[in-house]
Amino acid sequence: MSKVRVELGERSYDIFIGQDNLSELGDTIKRSNSYDKVIIITDPLVDDLYGDQVRASIRAAGYKVDTVQIGRGEKHKTLPQAAKIYDKLVELGAHRDTFLVSLGGGVIGDISGFVASTYMRGVSYAQVPTTLLSQVDASIGGKTGVDHPKGKNLIGVFYQPKFVFIDVRALTTLPEKELMTGLAEVIKYGIIDDDDFFKFLEANSHHLNTKAFEEEETLRAALKVWLTIVAESCKIKARVVSQDERESGLRMILNYGHTIGHAIETLTKYEKYTHGEAVAIGMVCAASIAKYMKMLDKESSGRIKDLLDKLGLPTMVERLSAKRIISSLSVDKKIRKGRMQFVLPTHIGKVEIRNNVPLKMVRKVLKEIGCR
Ligand code: NAD
Ligand code: MG
Repeated sequence: MSKVRVELGERSYDIFIGQDNLSELGDTIKRSNSYDKVIIITDPLVDDLYGDQVRASIRAAGYKVDTVQIGRGEKHKTLPQAAKIYDKLVELGAHRDTFLVSLGGGVIGDISGFVASTYMRGVSYAQVPTTLLSQVDASIGGKTGVDHPKGKNLIGVFYQPKFVFIDVRALTTLPEKELMTGLAEVIKYGIIDDDDFFKFLEANSHHLNTKAFEEEETLRAALKVWLTIVAESCKIKARVVSQDERESGLRMILNYGHTIGHAIETLTKYEKYTHGEAVAIGMVCAASIAKYMKMLDKESSGRIKDLLDKLGLPTMVERLSAKRIISSLSVDKKIRKGRMQFVLPTHIGKVEIRNNVPLKMVRKVLKEIGCR
């Protein structure tokens, strides 16, 4: 297993990354502190796929283990669902010495972290992320929370886990769409922080699809590539979070591609595009803006679009209105005096935050990606 450290003073922790390493989870819990029992929070599908392995590992380390399930998907990331988890924890006699394990994607990670932060004023927990998006993004940095009927992630706190534990083998059971949504964030890391990593993705793009998991030989090669990708992504996110835990400055660079991406998600009611797909389109827009602002050369902005295209992520839209995207951006208060704030690349591996992007340039770029 490799290890990436998230440096946050007394809240520092490790991200353990390996392949077929779930059997070591129990011992990792044991090494982190002394707890009297463990409760897993998961969803029915992830429980079917990985629950038995995780429970066996925790039992082998000498703990009693219980499992609490909530339904699958974003619609379950709510306060009423959190309340149901509290009820179960009370019923199971959970107390301050109980250790919680969040086993699943970002939805399970966010709500479990939130429950861990509030149950008995905070209990210890670990993130065991099983989607690509949660392995490279959601499980790191301690942002926890639930949605409100009026908006996503409106309720929550920063609450860091004791550790994050990743088995890349979990990626092999993901549907293509779930792999792709995480891949957009992976490519983002290359663009914002690491030219060599971006080159690695370009050189290995043929491994990055679910088809590669179908044959023994391609599977082995793909998992090797995924181990590198997940570890490098975790390093970048960990470094950014270490420098700016509460998103007051640097952590904003993680929003590269997210400005227009969020507007597209909102306008299409989170139905037409996955988060990663919307971010892919947003990254192409931001690269073009950077090109027109003469910050980024044409070749680099072309490479960004080419890599996304090659991996099957969308870089164009259909039947979306530029006007509606811009008005959605202004609702977000990102526009001042006809100028907007954007995270823009200056070359692959480096971005800057600019707040002087003229709206007419945003409009021009939106037309280029196919907006009406
Ligand atoms: P998700 O949690 O909804 O998981 C997607 C689906 O994949 C689920 O239906 C789940 O049952 C299934 N699944 C999980 N692991 C699987 C596996 N190994 N094999 C097969 N199926 C599996 O979606 P997600 O993309 O993981 O996470 C999205 C959520 O993460 C959003 O709520 C978002 O707000 C949040 N998020 C949080 C942060 C943060 O910093 N806290 C960052 C990014 C995203
Ligand atoms: Mg994102």
